[in-house]
Amino acid sequence: MRKAIHFLRRKSANYHMPIHVILGIFAAYFTSAHYPDYPKNTLILYGITGNLLPDIDHIFYIFLYAKHSDYSKKVKNYLKTNQFNKLFKFLKNNHKHNTGIYSHNFISLAISVTLFWNFGFIRNDPASSVFFLSWSIHYLYDLSEDILFFKRLNPNWYLNFNHAGHV
Ligand SMILES: [Zn+2]
Repeated sequence: MRKAIHFLRRKSANYHMPIHVILGIFAAYFTSAHYPDYPKNTLILYGITGNLLPDIDHIFYIFLYAKHSDYSKKVKNYLKTNQFNKLFKFLKNNHKHNTGIYSHNFISLAISVTLFWNFGFIRNDPASSVFFLSWSIHYLYDLSEDILFFKRLNPNWYLNFNHAGHV
């Protein structure tokens, strides 16, 4: 069991972003089954975008609302000095410990699920529906990753944000 958890942790850390892309494709295929006449490629595009876009808040964190945190300073320093390998390694090892990202909380999850419900079940809009389904799945994956890594959820989900960003 312990070995399996260790294995999953490593895979999840190494392939975090590709997993988001795969989840977006998965959301597209799920939606496509309900709208067989709708172009699959469009759904895939919306699915992938919906799964990647929530993490744009990491960029806002680094350059705007927590630009003075240790975390942001380190990232910007790696960028300025073109140390991209170090940057990727740093992000891979530390982004899970960053509990200051505003958008990653249960209210955002409730909003994205509601929007998915609205577009999928009320308005019958396949593109927007897959977009918000995928957006919601993004949070669900991040939540399950918290459990996988820390055996509990990070405080940001409960709107407890740490802006010091100590790493
Ligand atoms: Zn995320």
